[in-house]
Amino acid sequence: MSITMTDKKIPCLDLKGQHQQIKHEIFKAFEKVYEKTAFTGGPFVEEFEKDFAEFCGTKYALGLNNGTTALHLAMLTLGIGAGDEVIVPANTFIATAWGPTHAGATPVFVDCTADTWEIDVTKIEEKITPRTKAIIGVHLYGQPFDIAGVEAICKKHNLKFIEDAAQAQGARYKGQNVGGFGEMATFSFYPGKNLGACGEGGGITTNNEAYAKKIQSLRSHGSVVRYYHDEVGYNYRMGGLEGASLTIKLKYLEGWNNRRRHIASRYLNEITNPAIKMQAQPEWADSVFHLFVVTTEDKNSLVKHLESNGIQPAYHYPVPCHMQKAYAHLGHKEGDFPNSEYLASHCLSLPMFAELSEEDVNHVIEVINKY
Ligand SMILES: *Cc1c(COP(=O)(O)O)cnc(C)c1O
Repeated sequence: MSITMTDKKIPCLDLKGQHQQIKHEIFKAFEKVYEKTAFTGGPFVEEFEKDFAEFCGTKYALGLNNGTTALHLAMLTLGIGAGDEVIVPANTFIATAWGPTHAGATPVFVDCTADTWEIDVTKIEEKITPRTKAIIGVHLYGQPFDIAGVEAICKKHNLKFIEDAAQAQGARYKGQNVGGFGEMATFSFYPGKNLGACGEGGGITTNNEAYAKKIQSLRSHGSVVRYYHDEVGYNYRMGGLEGASLTIKLKYLEGWNNRRRHIASRYLNEITNPAIKMQAQPEWADSVFHLFVVTTEDKNSLVKHLESNGIQPAYHYPVPCHMQKAYAHLGHKEGDFPNSEYLASHCLSLPMFAELSEEDVNHVIEVINKY
């Protein structure tokens, strides 16, 4: 049975509406970058760094070329490398695990809870060994995880605490913006994130001056004075055009996030079909709903129903990290992390972006309730 509203397709994410709205402003900024030929690093990146640090309530924000290199530099800055272990959730985008791997360390996976789908704090301690150096928590789908729980374990076992906030720019934990809770927080400004550059982008926030200096050196060939290389470095700088686009988009972020919150609250309150499960919202978490993920027993039949009614779902993520071929050498098997595995095989993401119209949201809710 198909509900006829319109023939149009509602995608999970469409970046066009947002970029049409701000096109002229962005193009004007691009012209300035062009005139100054400030194509990498420089004033347009510095302006964004200043604004983003203020936004996160941290002393420092460092612009980088993407969120994966942010995770890599976080590991290097903390002195994590070969022989070390870093605890990460099994259900995250794979890049969380690339951080330790690229630094020569080993990611050690922990299952998520069955209802928040965030790292299960009660399952972390059994994974700690004498080699464990850090825990990377992920604010999954834009929702802050149990920061107090992870922090307490880090204190007790003398571990470094890092937030992977790639999906959560502007999310609040107990009223405070994410990004300032751990030793440092890593961000992605990939175009599809809540705050996305016109291009690739990433960054790290921290309150620690020594870390900020280390990141500035590592991201630019291990040099503070040009052509003097005090350590082995990388080219992980943010581009000027990306920085300029992010400065402009940051001004709109709170409004866009609030629109996502409104759409999410409609989904949460008005989707009443008992076959659909949504991410539990603990009281400490004020999510920015980067994604709106649901689970259902028979995913394929729900997908068919959505598609035949003009709704295009997506999947975040279909394979948990420990079951990826890239990590076969870690020797995991099905059943190791049952909640993450259940989520992977039963999840789908509903349309979620600020420019969705109320009619689109009505349609999604109506279609799901008729499933
Ligand atoms: C997107 C993402 C990253 C990686 O960011 P890139 O900019 O794509 O390299 C890392 N962690 C999480 C949780 C992400 O969603």
